[in-house]
Amino acid sequence: MRRWTQYQLAGATLAVAALLAGCAGGEPAARPEPARTPAAASSGPSVPGASPADPAPSASSPPAFRGVAVNATAADVPRSWRSGCPVGPEQLSRLTLTYWGFDARAHDGTLIVHRSVAQGLITVFQTLYRDRFPIRLLEPVDAYDGSDDASMAADNTSAFNCRPITGSTSGFSVHSYGKAIDVDTVENPYVKGTLVQPPAGKPFTNRANVRPGMIRHGDRVWRAFTTHGFTWGGDWHSLKDYQHFEFPI
Ligand SMILES: [Zn+2]
Repeated sequence: MRRWTQYQLAGATLAVAALLAGCAGGEPAARPEPARTPAAASSGPSVPGASPADPAPSASSPPAFRGVAVNATAADVPRSWRSGCPVGPEQLSRLTLTYWGFDARAHDGTLIVHRSVAQGLITVFQTLYRDRFPIRLLEPVDAYDGSDDASMAADNTSAFNCRPITGSTSGFSVHSYGKAIDVDTVENPYVKGTLVQPPAGKPFTNRANVRPGMIRHGDRVWRAFTTHGFTWGGDWHSLKDYQHFEFPI
């Protein structure tokens, strides 16, 4: 154990603040340089809690899991929802969830889901965070203009998207109800015959070579979701959708 210097404490505090603010770009937040600590420097002596004597979380003690659900509005789903979709924005929840990144750090992400599965999914993500299952990104598909292809290519984990069933031009996917979620899409691609989506997922069609982020039948991720009533697309026979969990509509 080594002692924390004042600079290290300031840096650690800013690093945690960056984590709490979320990492929407997907890149790990750079550790702030100790010499550039305007937030700490400007807080002034009158601000309580600014003392360097305060305990600061270290890399070995990541923040506690946070899972918060609020009612979604049309502003949360500007591209992923349109009139005629099977559920309206008022039936959706916007979840803010702590997740464990591939960078071995905690992040906050956002997931849009049907209200009926919100609490169950908070518990699922609490389990994934506890188990340090790595998630690349956790952003609404609206961050990708509602494009499932773009979201998948980014290795993003998302749920609600009012769109047809993959590989079809008609019928609503369970994602249209906010009751399906795709997890780590590159590590867990959609495979139908020779079609692999996203294309970057091709190296992960070899499911026997287990790498971080991959989901397997019976593993901790599979158990976390199926315990809460979800079924896994990797258990399907006509095709394999390894990224996909869905709840009955
Ligand atoms: Zn899916």
